[in-house]
Amino acid sequence: MRRFRLFYRIFPSYLLITAVALAGLGVFAYATLKREHLSRLTEQLRITVRLAAEQVEAAGTGAETAALCRRLGGLVDSRLTVIAPDGTVIGDSWHEPAAMDNHADRPEIIAALQGKDGYSLRYSPTARRTMLYVALPAREAGGVAAAVRAAVPLTAIDAALADFAKRIGAVALLIALLGAGTGWFVARRLSRPIEAVTQGAARFAAGDLAYRVPLPQSAEMAALADTLNRMAQRLDERTRAALRAREERDAVFASMAEGILAVDTDGRVAQANRAAAELLGVRPDGLKGKTIQEAVRNPEIQSLVEDVAARGERIERVVTLYGEEERVLQAHGSLLQETNGRPLGTLLVLNDVTRLRQLERARRDFVANVSHELKTPITSIKGFVETLLDGQARDAAETQRFLSIILRQVDRLNLMIGDILSLSTIEHETEQRRVERVEGRLIGVLKDAVEICAERARQKDVTLRIECSRELSARISAHLLEQALVNLIDNAVKFSREGGTVEIGAARGPDGVRVTVRDHGIGIERRHLARLFERFYRVDKGRDRKQGGTGLGLAIVKHVALAHGGRVDVSSTPGAGSLFTMTLPDAS
Ligand code: ADP
Repeated sequence: MRRFRLFYRIFPSYLLITAVALAGLGVFAYATLKREHLSRLTEQLRITVRLAAEQVEAAGTGAETAALCRRLGGLVDSRLTVIAPDGTVIGDSWHEPAAMDNHADRPEIIAALQGKDGYSLRYSPTARRTMLYVALPAREAGGVAAAVRAAVPLTAIDAALADFAKRIGAVALLIALLGAGTGWFVARRLSRPIEAVTQGAARFAAGDLAYRVPLPQSAEMAALADTLNRMAQRLDERTRAALRAREERDAVFASMAEGILAVDTDGRVAQANRAAAELLGVRPDGLKGKTIQEAVRNPEIQSLVEDVAARGERIERVVTLYGEEERVLQAHGSLLQETNGRPLGTLLVLNDVTRLRQLERARRDFVANVSHELKTPITSIKGFVETLLDGQARDAAETQRFLSIILRQVDRLNLMIGDILSLSTIEHETEQRRVERVEGRLIGVLKDAVEICAERARQKDVTLRIECSRELSARISAHLLEQALVNLIDNAVKFSREGGTVEIGAARGPDGVRVTVRDHGIGIERRHLARLFERFYRVDKGRDRKQGGTGLGLAIVKHVALAHGGRVDVSSTPGAGSLFTMTLPDAS
């Protein structure tokens, strides 16, 4: 349906009402005036006819009636006619009576001949115009002697009325113009505020909720504008609150370490956070809107989503992703429902358990290694004890030799168990952040460690040299650092040549205090360096066991460095020696 602006609805209606009112008033005034003129003219004619009838009554009807008519007609400025009771015209002021037809059928004549007043307004073929006729009876003793009639043309009335119509038309036009102007003004006054309010509402609908509709002058429109403004303000507040809540939810969602993936009932990803994209190895915007098959190229996750939807229950599965690096994810799938229970899809929560799995594996490997390492000396001890019990030793010297082997193996076991215990204690304390560190001078720790190793160094004629400023201090756990240093110095002495030198130093570097142990011994091949600090890792199994090591010394060094928030590095040249550096940062 075609819609017009409010102005174009109000203004023409206004014009129409004005035009109809004016036309109605004009027609009514014209008709009233005409009626008024007519009744006055009729009254005048009636008086004229009355007087003429009295003349006719006095003179009686006869041959002289025609002359009387002409005379009287000249006096009263109207046509006078006298009609005999049979309808014959016996006198007429304008025409020859003999030439006129019988008038018995004229309504005014019929009335007059019956003794009543007769009136008629009609077109006269004789005079060729509309005439007003008034006829009265001229009586004689006992009856009506004749009907006397006067007639005037209506041209005078018509002329007077035409003039009146002209004037009233001019006034009506003036009023119509004034009315149109007023109508235009009123229509604009009415439509303007409505248009302003409509425009305001359109701006609200377009999302411009900060806009305020100006208040129009009329009370009703002002109330409407005010209501609209308040509605917009309320809507604005609600929208902002909803937006804030969504931003907060998105922020929580985005900063969660767990991967969250919401899949709708059509199997398309409706929501996914950054962690989910990272865990699944896709771009952050590469999940939303895709089907789960397109988004996640892993049949286990796909079937998990399908199973949750089919069974309607919570399912937990461990899923392995084989990409550039293997990833193990723990995936929880549950139904996503509205508060009224209507299903919305499936919610997947993904946890990266790769490191946990690696730790579990490392622990399992460690237990296997420990068992293996312990088994070797125990088997050896068992063998020698059985030989001795069987009395198979040839003499006291051999018995002595066997017993000293057993003692050596027991020492080795003791050493290993000691190292395992130390390692687990340091690890545990580091995890629990219970390693106690105090500000202390390093020179003392270095000296104590050197003193412990001095005897073994002397046996091998190795010189131990300390390079450290007396003032150098750091936040350290002295006994742990001493233990690490003893392990490093012990190794350095072990792998130095007879008469060699081992330098033990501490100095402040750019990233904290650096504690170093350098030897000039056999060195370590490059391929071993990466794994050197692993538990039970040995460069040469046979040789190193013979040297009496447990394979845990450097692992302990690494964990001591970690307990200080630092790290340990090694550089080595086969045949030229090795340099072990523990870095202990100041801040941690
Ligand atoms: P162990 O207690 O058996 O010495 P470590 O963990 O201390 O075990 O050392 C691991 C391996 O690293 C040793 O078996 C040895 O082969 C090698 N290694 C350690 N320190 C040195 C060094 N200063 N020079 C050469 N090789 C070394």
